Amino acid sequence: MDAAEAIRMLGGIARTSQLCAQGTTRLRLARAAERGAVDRIRPGVYAAGVLAPGVRTAAAHGGELACASALRHFGVWVLEPAPRLHVWVGPNARTHAHDGCRCITHRDGGAASFGVVSLTRALVQCASCLGAEAFFAAFESAWAQGLLTAADRVEIRSDLLARFRWLVDIARPDAGSGLESLLRLRLLRLGIALACQVPIPRVGRVDFVLAGCIVLEVDGRDNHDGPSQRHRDLVRDAEAAAAGYETLRFDYALVVHDWPRVERAILARLRDRTAAAR
Ligand SMILES: [Zn+2]
Ligand SMILES: [Zn+2]
Repeated sequence: MDAAEAIRMLGGIARTSQLCAQGTTRLRLARAAERGAVDRIRPGVYAAGVLAPGVRTAAAHGGELACASALRHFGVWVLEPAPRLHVWVGPNARTHAHDGCRCITHRDGGAASFGVVSLTRALVQCASCLGAEAFFAAFESAWAQGLLTAADRVEIRSDLLARFRWLVDIARPDAGSGLESLLRLRLLRLGIALACQVPIPRVGRVDFVLAGCIVLEVDGRDNHDGPSQRHRDLVRDAEAAAAGYETLRFDYALVVHDWPRVERAILARLRDRTAAAR
């Protein structure tokens, strides 16, 4: 077997020691690297074949793609406005200098290798690293996409620090977007009860209804839908108004970067509606 094939058999990244144990010699490795058949990531670590984005840099740093970076790899929604590379190296391993390193190193227990951590580990890491809101949104995003079994959810709950476990208990499998998860968590913390994914005749499902009469919609879409999407939203709002609802609509920038403004709007409308009902 040639060196590149031996590395691919080991998952695309391997240590010289692993390769030598399988019969590849250091000389053959060095020659394969000179020819460009294998890629020397750092002394003693080689790659071959196509690697997922970030996996090579994580190996250069010393471990596996982890936490928010792994969640993105799995297609999970992550609340991290300025993304960095998260790398799991295990408790005692050293990290390695490499070009442009801004990595966040994770040292939770277990033996790290190369590649990508499991989804369950990535979610648990995300809680400690990015906090309750990021964890909650990522957990609901993974669940909504069918990526978490009941056993996975139990495992995650038990691996989490005790202060995060309640988030698993209030999570739902049908969150429409990460922004929706975030908004729901924040309103729950304000003590505001809300109904989720409510069907309204001639409108369809809306994200949330508060106090039986205020529709909240969060727009996680990019703007590439343009005017036609805006028109559809206006039609929805008009139909909701005809049915006696008032719609408040928020986007990513408002929810993530300007939450106090969103909170003020919601609380003011709730106050007015409750006063009018008296
Ligand atoms: Zn992290
Ligand atoms: Zn690094």
